[in-house]
Amino acid sequence: AKAAGRNTARFFDPAMQHQINERLALEAALREAIEQRRLTLWYQPQVDATGTTLGAEALLRWIDKDGRIVPTDRFIPLAEETGLIHPIGRFVLQATCEQLAAWASEPRLAGLVLAINISARQFAEPDFVSELRTMLVDHHVPAGRLKLELTESVVLEHVDEAVQRMEQLREIGLLFALDDFGTGYSSLSYLKRLPVDQVKIDKAFVRDVCEDAGDAAIARTIVTLGHVLGISIIAEGVETEAQLDFLQACGCDAYQGYLFGKPMPVDEFERFAASVATA
Ligand code: C2E
Ligand code: CA
Ligand code: CA
Ligand code: CA
Repeated sequence: AKAAGRNTARFFDPAMQHQINERLALEAALREAIEQRRLTLWYQPQVDATGTTLGAEALLRWIDKDGRIVPTDRFIPLAEETGLIHPIGRFVLQATCEQLAAWASEPRLAGLVLAINISARQFAEPDFVSELRTMLVDHHVPAGRLKLELTESVVLEHVDEAVQRMEQLREIGLLFALDDFGTGYSSLSYLKRLPVDQVKIDKAFVRDVCEDAGDAAIARTIVTLGHVLGISIIAEGVETEAQLDFLQACGCDAYQGYLFGKPMPVDEFERFAASVATA
């Protein structure tokens, strides 16, 4: 009876009840946002050393009823836990394919590559490969225009299945980037096993790359190792000229960050990409 009493007391803990209510409310709001198509994609430029736009990373934005952006880190983890990441992932895939199809007839946009983030649960779905293939065919989008960003944790959890799946998709021409590289606990030797086209140096290393000798060494090592393995290197979170200079000296192939452009709505990105590089 005492134990039950404690449990009852805990159940009525007002702080915990408040948390549960908040979570349920957020989940309901997210469900509604998906149904009412209030999720959208913003695009952040990815550029080469001359400042030429190579493409963009598509980043999910949820604009609430009052026109405010709900922070991604508030709702992506929730979407993963509740399974809502599946309809969201399908939306992202569909929206990027539609975008690539729309750009196909625009000379200055036709060559751009769009990168999308794929969550662990989405990548593990049995239908993932066939859905992706159908989506590309339906929109007449060449597979090489789409780059899938996976994190180390997505790949390494079930490495053999993941590698097999990646190889299937690379056969039809899809590109892969390894996101947040260096932040996990995996050893560098894993990179040799992973069929990726690109590695992203995480913004955590880029931030202090000019001041912190350790971060500088990590960035340099990732570039050297990647190039030995035939993998291109993109640095994310580039905010200053000094960071860019350092990363260029390291031999980085591509860059993404506020220095070039923040994530922006599609019409703004189209103007950005069509304008001549000034670097
Ligand atoms: P991520 O994939 O590592 O994305 C990079 C994040 O860094 C983005 O945050 C971007 O806005 C931010 N960022 C870009 N440049 C800079 C910079 O120069 N400085 C700093 N400090 N930050 C910069 P965002 O858009 O809030 O996304 C957060 C995370 O949410 C993403 O991290 C990704 O893991 C997840 N995410 C976003 N869109 C999707 C999606 O469509 N599907 C899935 N599964 N996850 C997504
Ligand atoms: Ca990413
Ligand atoms: Ca990242
Ligand atoms: Ca991240």
